[in-house]
Amino acid sequence: MRNNRIYLDYAATTPVAPEVLEVMQPYFSEKFGNPGSLHTFGQEAQGAVDAARNRIAGSLGAESKEIIFTASATEANNLAIRGIVRGSAASSSEPRFARSSGSRPLDLAPAAPLRGDQARRRSALSSELAALPHIVTTVIEHESVLETCRDLERKKEAEVTYLPVTAEGVLRLSDVAQALRKETVLVSVGYANNEIGTIQPIPEIAAAISEFKIQNSKVKNNYPLFHTDAVQAVQFLDCDVQKLGVDLMTVSSHKIYGPKGIAALSVRHIAKLASIITGGGQEFGLRSGTENVPALVGFSRALELVEGLRERESARIGRLRDMLYSGILAAVPAAALNGAKEPRVPNNLNLSFPDYFGEELLLVLDREGIAVSTGSACRAKSREPSHVLSALGLPEERVRSSIRFSLGRFTTEEEIEKTVRTISYIFKK
Ligand code: PLP
Repeated sequence: MRNNRIYLDYAATTPVAPEVLEVMQPYFSEKFGNPGSLHTFGQEAQGAVDAARNRIAGSLGAESKEIIFTASATEANNLAIRGIVRGSAASSSEPRFARSSGSRPLDLAPAAPLRGDQARRRSALSSELAALPHIVTTVIEHESVLETCRDLERKKEAEVTYLPVTAEGVLRLSDVAQALRKETVLVSVGYANNEIGTIQPIPEIAAAISEFKIQNSKVKNNYPLFHTDAVQAVQFLDCDVQKLGVDLMTVSSHKIYGPKGIAALSVRHIAKLASIITGGGQEFGLRSGTENVPALVGFSRALELVEGLRERESARIGRLRDMLYSGILAAVPAAALNGAKEPRVPNNLNLSFPDYFGEELLLVLDREGIAVSTGSACRAKSREPSHVLSALGLPEERVRSSIRFSLGRFTTEEEIEKTVRTISYIFKK
């Protein structure tokens, strides 16, 4: 509770933990060097970057050279998707992604403009040879995945299959298997959904992709790769990339009590990734820009803390979340849970309430000192109904009457009791 206000929007962002702030502090002032500089100040900063990278790699079961720091999870998702699509076009020696059957790029641009039949023949030949790289994702991904895929489609750089989910918000494995094609370069499925908290069967999806590779031995170069956005999962679930069987993973700092402005992409087949930000060649040439040293030092400490607290906090927060759910149901029996009760991350409770628009109820609760959300913080100001809840097949009035409660490290039993009392009072009026 902060100034008597109750914060139940930890899925949007979290406060920086005191232990995190403490390790960051020196890197704003006395240890301010640029890691690219050769002198002692630079070496000190580079040492901090290396240590943070090693620690994050250790937490994710990856190697240090597979961790790329970015400024946000949005950027990490962009890098994963755009980077793999671009990388596949650059590396392919197959007659797939706009390439000729040799290793020489197919020259689709004629020296002089073609006319009439000649142009039509050329165009038919081009579309036959230039199968676009294909991406498989789901309709409930975060906007940073969906908008990136849509952008690639609009620019005719990729084809995308958006898989549906069940009414419970879970992907069907058979749909994944059916969607894979020889042109598929990337499958991107979020581990835990940011709006409804449902957990996708990541190891099973990885197994389906491996099976596809075995069955289609002609699919060369180890495609498709598998990416998961683990931003909402990492504080509650083991995110070891090897155990999960993923090639790329996005994790973010500000959802786990670290600072904003820093996230990371773990990439197993790093040679397959093309950069999307060019410049001084930092981050193995894959993400140029001077490293945000204080932030990445804080991020690595935050991830370390989350790992140590994972089991205990999952149990504690899950118990508080269940208390909140049963308390609300007792007060408002018509409140309906959105998404499966299990498997769901323990901090998420997404409910639709009768007779209220979500935004309206959010503001009423805010006046009572309780901060919740209607879904994704990125979309909070848009008038569009949630694409995640719509994908569950819920009627629009139920979609529009939803509230997401997300609990966190500083949530107390007293806060949950007060929230239940406040909701009972609102619905009795
Ligand atoms: N992915 C997921 C699952 C998220 O919940 C979020 C933020 O809500 C993001 C990506 C994007 O994070 P950011 O806005 O910090 O880039």
